[in-house]
Amino acid sequence: MSLPSLFDLPKGMQVSQIQITETGLVVEVMATSPTSCCPLCLEPSSSIHCHYQRTLRDAPCAGRRVQLLLTVRKFTCRNLYCERKVFAERFPDLVEPWARTTIRHCQQITSIGLSTCGKGGARLAARLGIQTSRQTILRRIMALPDPMHGTVFHLGIDEFAFRRGYRFGTLLVNLESHSVIDLLPDRRQDSAANWMRQHPDIQVVSRDRGGEFAAAADLGAPQATQCADRFHVCKNLTEALQPLIARCLAEMLADKTPQDDEKTPASQLSTISLAE
Ligand SMILES: [Zn+2]
Repeated sequence: MSLPSLFDLPKGMQVSQIQITETGLVVEVMATSPTSCCPLCLEPSSSIHCHYQRTLRDAPCAGRRVQLLLTVRKFTCRNLYCERKVFAERFPDLVEPWARTTIRHCQQITSIGLSTCGKGGARLAARLGIQTSRQTILRRIMALPDPMHGTVFHLGIDEFAFRRGYRFGTLLVNLESHSVIDLLPDRRQDSAANWMRQHPDIQVVSRDRGGEFAAAADLGAPQATQCADRFHVCKNLTEALQPLIARCLAEMLADKTPQDDEKTPASQLSTISLAE
């Protein structure tokens, strides 16, 4: 098996040297293709202008940290009409331009972060021979593109707390897929209304009993039917039943006989609590 295959390098790359250090492996790699395409005009060029070296973190090998020393060639663009005179060769299957970590290593860190969290991910990564920090893990997750949620017909909207009692945001849920589709940085009426305007297929808005989201739905999704969500329906029902049960208890207490009073003291009945 050749070394590029062992390290799973993209086609056209070769390993020129491997050093074993106390902390891991240092692998020197370079491209073998005689030409490279200008990123601006896409013209191939074989005119090498100079070289430089990039130091990249790569996926660990058998628990050892791997550092790639990537030799990058700079080519001269021979297209007279191109604005780019000199360009560095690109490695789209290995590393993004200007990145210091290979694509596959970024994917590893992202996967760890999605499976754990910032602090827990950093601890797990260290055990796996991956050098990273909780900030890097969180940054990778935040850099992920938003998933496509398609058309929203049934929308659930409610507030959530960044910090309880101080700062709130708005949570938007697709009630058919039961998935969170967006978070807004505040709970203002105009923010929610603007979001709904961008989703004209909304047919139902399930919301709380407050006026902000009702007004937002009036403005942003006037075509939609508004309803209270399950929590607030139960809350409405509880609040309606409380005075009814209290009145029934009062009537029972008024109608009770002295013998009943001995069996069920009034003080005991009055302490019956009505949980929501
Ligand atoms: Zn060019």
